[in-house]
Amino acid sequence: MASQKIAILSVWDKTGLLDLAKGLEKHGVRLLASGGTAKMLRESNFAVEDISAITKAPEMLAGRVKTLHPAVHAGILARNQESDEKDLADQKIDKVDYVICNLYPFQSTVAKIGVTIPEAVEEIDIGGVTLIRAAAKNHARVTIVSDVEDYPSFLNELDDNNGSVSEPVRQKFALKAFEHTADYDTAISGFFRSRWASDGVQQVSLRYGTNPHQKPAAAYVSGGNLPFKVLCGSPGYVNLLDALNSWPLVKELSAALDYPAAASFKHVSPAGAAIGVPLNDVERKVYMVDDIAGIETSGLAQAYARARGADRMSSFGDMIALSHEVDTPTAKIISREVSDGVIAPGYTAEALEILRKKKGGKYLVLQMDPEYDPPATETRSVFGITLSQHRNDAQISPQSSFSTTITPKDASLPDPAVRDLTVATIALKFTQSNSVCYALNGQIIGLGAGQQSRIHCTRLAGDKADNWFMRFHERALNLKWKKGTKRPDKSNAIDMLCSGVIPKSGIEKEDYEKNFEEVPTPFTAEEREAWLSELKGVAVSSDAFFPFIDNVFRAARSGVKYIAAPTGSQNDQACFDTAEQLGIIFVEQPLRLFHH
Ligand code: 5GP
Repeated sequence: MASQKIAILSVWDKTGLLDLAKGLEKHGVRLLASGGTAKMLRESNFAVEDISAITKAPEMLAGRVKTLHPAVHAGILARNQESDEKDLADQKIDKVDYVICNLYPFQSTVAKIGVTIPEAVEEIDIGGVTLIRAAAKNHARVTIVSDVEDYPSFLNELDDNNGSVSEPVRQKFALKAFEHTADYDTAISGFFRSRWASDGVQQVSLRYGTNPHQKPAAAYVSGGNLPFKVLCGSPGYVNLLDALNSWPLVKELSAALDYPAAASFKHVSPAGAAIGVPLNDVERKVYMVDDIAGIETSGLAQAYARARGADRMSSFGDMIALSHEVDTPTAKIISREVSDGVIAPGYTAEALEILRKKKGGKYLVLQMDPEYDPPATETRSVFGITLSQHRNDAQISPQSSFSTTITPKDASLPDPAVRDLTVATIALKFTQSNSVCYALNGQIIGLGAGQQSRIHCTRLAGDKADNWFMRFHERALNLKWKKGTKRPDKSNAIDMLCSGVIPKSGIEKEDYEKNFEEVPTPFTAEEREAWLSELKGVAVSSDAFFPFIDNVFRAARSGVKYIAAPTGSQNDQACFDTAEQLGIIFVEQPLRLFHH
């Protein structure tokens, strides 16, 4: 006759315990239970034995040691093999077949307001975790039931299989058990991280999450230190989202083109990004940096002037990323713009001093470890569901990403076109999709982000590129500002003038005109068309294929000469043909670059 099966029961949550015991008893299972569990069963007249019946040791230390004993764990961990059987026989230990265990309520205890460390410590289950882990490890022979919700299906399984449990069910329960202990340990480490990890080293507490009512909020790594240091200010959740998207952008851009690079981020997409191609006098004026001493010798300052200058209106309150050590000219540009923060691999002493004075000492300054390489797998949780994927670590390379010219066949791209396609494509890799980017002179000149339809991205980005170019028109360059007009107000007024949305009447018109000593004449449609016809040699990149030829038509209207996009659309050929007819070189960029 087969020997009697043994179940160890040790449950904090005693829901369903009596029904469970009844089911086990029906199959003749010997019941062994820890103190409180045994008490409840005994009170209901079950023939239950204390764990001490096999350990020959009492529960100790006020319950801290109940089941931690070789008689229990060898009984659980033993395999159906001769050497294990012999070890058990030598020690007179019986095999355990079922473990029913759930853990002390650590999570709900630490969720209580004002919980103390000793209170939390007492809720760290040791023996239960060991029971669960041991039984789950030996799932080849042992069944672990760690969720009260599984009692009915466990009992049905016993009924259906004449008192045993099939392999798939044991595996399913074991997986659940491993997840149970993993969640439990995550809760424990999370609680102590929040209490003991030095702020700014392994974690940073954030004032709130995306919105002020989303509390608490924090950023942390689960091992080691954060790859950035907070040198000034205190980061917000969105600041960090921007910083951790813009930093890899400038790092990759700088490495790809061997120039200092800068990005100006807003709402997790770039408003501008650029490399430090030298600025000419007009560009310095348009980007409002013509009075910055030493800018002509700082590639980084010129990169940021271009990034900020792409769409000055959108860059209001930006998070800045800079690929190189921040110097004085760059810090000076930043110091007088409305900006939330900056991330860079380092700062000269003078630059740091300038930035520390900004916003009354509250300007966010982050120093990034340039050697930091994130893990290959990234996970995030959305609506309680964990999503995991291989990080988008594909590299965009000026040498290989734009080598497949589709139309005209075998056309070769001039170096500035390759440079600008690289800028546009790397920018898209870190832009919320859908996205389309126009670039010229080593910088973004128009970017359409986060639109559901591609043509809306292409139009939005094209309109921004047009607006950018209108800012170089003589009229926009020679505006007569009223004394005291602030830089953001100037940027907003220029944006209205250049995009042709000047208010016609009422207080809105007054509000626009109050900025000027001499109100500029609006551009006529003809003036606009004539000026925009001078915009030439623009590069466009798209984060996915163009589904319709309208995108190519729209791009052509803003001086586009080069397009790089993935292929795969039913309309590929029509897009290539349209490009060819419009004199545009179409390059297949092989990677789809959605980013969310
Ligand atoms: P009971 O109410 O039966 O006295 O205790 C059940 C709880 O004790 C379960 O949540 C189980 O995880 C936990 N437990 C089982 N063995 C041990 C042990 O050796 N030490 C500690 N601290 N807890 C244990």
